Amino acid sequence: MINKILIANRGEIAVRIIRACREMGISTVAVYSDIDKEALHVQLADEAICIGTAMAKDSYLKMDRILSAALATGADAIHPGFGFLSESSKFAGLCKKCNIIFIGPSADTILKMGDKSEARKTMMKAGIPVVPGTKSPITSIEEGVKIGSKIGYPLMIKASAGGGGKGMRLVKCSETFKECFDKARQEAKNGFGDDRLYLEKYIENARHIEFQILADQFGNVIHLGERDCSIQRRHQKLIEEAPAYGISDELRQEMGSMAVRAAKEIGYTNAGTVEFILDEENNYYFIEMNTRLQVEHGITEMVTGIDIVKEQIRIADSKKLDIKQEDIKIKGHAIECRINAEKPAENFLPSPGQIKNLHMPGGCGVRIDSAIYHNYIIPPNYDSLIAKLIVHDDCRESAIKKLIGVLGEFVIEGLDTNTDFLFSIVSNDKFKHEGVDTGFVEKFLNESRMMTVS
Ligand code: ADP
Repeated sequence: MINKILIANRGEIAVRIIRACREMGISTVAVYSDIDKEALHVQLADEAICIGTAMAKDSYLKMDRILSAALATGADAIHPGFGFLSESSKFAGLCKKCNIIFIGPSADTILKMGDKSEARKTMMKAGIPVVPGTKSPITSIEEGVKIGSKIGYPLMIKASAGGGGKGMRLVKCSETFKECFDKARQEAKNGFGDDRLYLEKYIENARHIEFQILADQFGNVIHLGERDCSIQRRHQKLIEEAPAYGISDELRQEMGSMAVRAAKEIGYTNAGTVEFILDEENNYYFIEMNTRLQVEHGITEMVTGIDIVKEQIRIADSKKLDIKQEDIKIKGHAIECRINAEKPAENFLPSPGQIKNLHMPGGCGVRIDSAIYHNYIIPPNYDSLIAKLIVHDDCRESAIKKLIGVLGEFVIEGLDTNTDFLFSIVSNDKFKHEGVDTGFVEKFLNESRMMTVS
């Protein structure tokens, strides 16, 4: 029985998890770095333990301190949220050793899917379409150039250990391969301590479509429909919506059953996401599986009515899924905007600082997941995401109208945020009427620049 959960995270996701625990009658333990002592998650949890100093490596990534905090407070389980230790197979394994439930899949599954090149291989074996590319990481530039010419240009160089859009390079022609390869290798080495790279064909005008899955410990796996996460900057998601615009029920069913097959193939448990790239002809290709809760899980919750965090906790507590695939009904349309403390005009440079004035909108079908408050100082040490604005309405058109209204009402003063930028995207006619692909933000920026020049 899970009675107490330690949340090994901070910010809005820690708050989100604390709220779910509270509704389930589960006590909570927050952990925090010294710079976060005034943070909302610390104030809302039943107990809070300081685990180190501001740099993540000295606090939120310190496995031994987090485990000691869990043992000292008698926590039965640890929820890792996303980022930090959420995809560390070592941490999941250590939790098990300490007799603490890790709310997520097994260490072995995390390891299998964490290596993106290995994951491609596993999916190929399971008969799931993957983006054409290399079967194993490439060992030298020469080998890369050779395989690259077989795959054809443009292509993507990706880090096996990659994530968050890092260690990834788009190569437009063979002449720039070496330069891109070196840059990707360096970034992968610095970011993940692992410089193995692999190649994929670049799918032009693609869409990022992902399926949320839930899997219990008894072999039951369901999917909760898809999310379209094509609006990205630097390969990082900015706006997500559910369901995806213009996807037929047939295609949804087919891709959803592929996602379920992928999860079954690896004996997956808990919540996870299978990510696909969809091309203009509606061919879909597996790109990776995220073995954790996603930032954008809220839009799926809005259209299915299922609380994914509560399901995660129930599954980790060895409960059977009591929802069947046929029970999943997608109702209406939900869109999320990631509000970041950043400067869009300066290549999305992070912009931490103190919130001097704050007004968050509300209303029917408006949800804001955030941990900011008036006078709160956003530290420079962590992710720039400060609020997730989610709207839900009957259809895409009315959801967009609602989003335009609430984005216009949002006031965050004292630091730069991307709210105006988000407002201009969702008010754009192409976004409203033509659907989107992963090149949307770049095209949008180029057009805005051209308009400024002329
Ligand atoms: P990460 O793990 O770093 O998030 P992903 O493999 O999930 O990287 O890719 C991130 C984004 O990069 C995708 O959502 C998509 O926009 C783009 N992308 C990745 N692979 C391809 C590809 N083969 N062709 C076109 N775009 C791609």
